[in-house]
Amino acid sequence: MYSIAIDGPAGAGKSTIAKQIASQIGFVYVDTGAMYRAIALYLLRKGVDGRDRETIAALCPEIKVSLAYDEEGKQQVILNGENVTPYIREEEVGKMASVTSAIPEVRAALLDLQRNMALTTDILMDGRDIGTHVLPNASLKIYLTASSAIRAKRRFDELCAKGMECDFNQIEQDIILRDKQDMEREIAPLRQAEDAVLVDSSDMTIEEVVSAVIAEFNKIK
Ligand code: C5P
Repeated sequence: MYSIAIDGPAGAGKSTIAKQIASQIGFVYVDTGAMYRAIALYLLRKGVDGRDRETIAALCPEIKVSLAYDEEGKQQVILNGENVTPYIREEEVGKMASVTSAIPEVRAALLDLQRNMALTTDILMDGRDIGTHVLPNASLKIYLTASSAIRAKRRFDELCAKGMECDFNQIEQDIILRDKQDMEREIAPLRQAEDAVLVDSSDMTIEEVVSAVIAEFNKIK
């Protein structure tokens, strides 16, 4: 069984490239950020303050997150029986996830689920702590990054294409804040694993990144 871990900061293009690679090499793709987003959505719907650790820890046992795959093989996130995939991409949910993912009980609620998925199938998992914590023995680890300005520009273009009004500086500030929260938390912070291959996508196209990662995989398989 092979496992590929792709970690990196928000907006580095992890999910875009991970989806393409998984489909090219026939691996199941697991977007772990979507699981943290599902928990954040639950907490937002409850009206809980993301910094209220005690309340969130007490709520964790009643939050059940699982993954399913539709006919096209796209990942669907199920929260207590409801498919919440359409609701988790909102900016507000991402911001909440970045705060609540620092809570130990939230991370513990997802860890076994993530690890168990890698036991039964070839898997490509993306997130923040996959190579360092979830799958420390992954067959291949990639740390995918890009400068905050480039990541903000990509996000800005994406929102503009959707016809949404947006402010470049605000987007970049949000990205910098998210990096800080993800890198400075006590448990499973975002960092490059010692044995991870660093890929800086700042000046690379999606196709170039996909080819670079597949080339790394071909070296170890
Ligand atoms: O990758 P995405 O933006 O969907 O992740 C949302 C948030 O979930 C991240 O900002 C991060 O705080 C958290 N996360 C995490 N560990 C992972 C994946 C995501 O803490 N493996």
